[in-house]
Amino acid sequence: MRTGDAPAGYARLDFIEEHLPGYSSPSSNGHFVVEVCVQSGVQRANHPTPGHRYHGKMLKAYFPHTTDGAGARVMLRVLEAHRRRLLFTIGQSATSGRDNTVKFGSIHFKTAIHGGPPKHGYPDPGYLERISSELDDVGVMDNDVMGFLNESDEEQKVREVKLTTAASCALVGLVTATTERLCPASHALTAQCVVWGLSCDECGKQLGPGKTRFGCVECDFDICAQCAGVLNVRLGEEVD
Ligand SMILES: [Zn+2]
Ligand SMILES: [Zn+2]
Repeated sequence: MRTGDAPAGYARLDFIEEHLPGYSSPSSNGHFVVEVCVQSGVQRANHPTPGHRYHGKMLKAYFPHTTDGAGARVMLRVLEAHRRRLLFTIGQSATSGRDNTVKFGSIHFKTAIHGGPPKHGYPDPGYLERISSELDDVGVMDNDVMGFLNESDEEQKVREVKLTTAASCALVGLVTATTERLCPASHALTAQCVVWGLSCDECGKQLGPGKTRFGCVECDFDICAQCAGVLNVRLGEEVD
């Protein structure tokens, strides 16, 4: 599986019951907003200038919720690409010329609702097809989209049905986040939604259902977002 060198950050999903330009009922019943945030930090060995600081990035990307499920699948593939650290890279910004900046990789987002292609907005009839082939090119396929949910087959099936038919999406609030932190045995930590409640193995804080935990299944190690260093840079708050 191909993974990239994007610095750690999180992506959060929301659903809005308003059509994007170019999509209307009955073929669409709203749109998804994916808020992506990569915090500023220090470049690691796999980055262009290790040891130097880089500037983070925060953006909102918009995807139509089409009743055939095509928009939802693309949105989920983008979340999966984020989990694989493929959405961004560190380098010189093409727009500002600023160096050591988190910039887009090969996947193009709609960062505006209006204005069409010149403003990176809608309407843009070919967008879903284009981003779908961009996702193909980095190896995030249609079949991969349910993987990060860590669900049973049965739960996945239910969710798939909801994605294609429901007026709104059961995935709202879903967070995919990455962290540089490792477990005591140096395994990578993956973000998961807390289902039953647990306490952070580092600071002891209680994490209720719906909170994000960063864990290693093998070592039964879980820490909170704050201990994982994953914060909402805009609000200065823990991601939950
Ligand atoms: Zn903690
Ligand atoms: Zn471990």
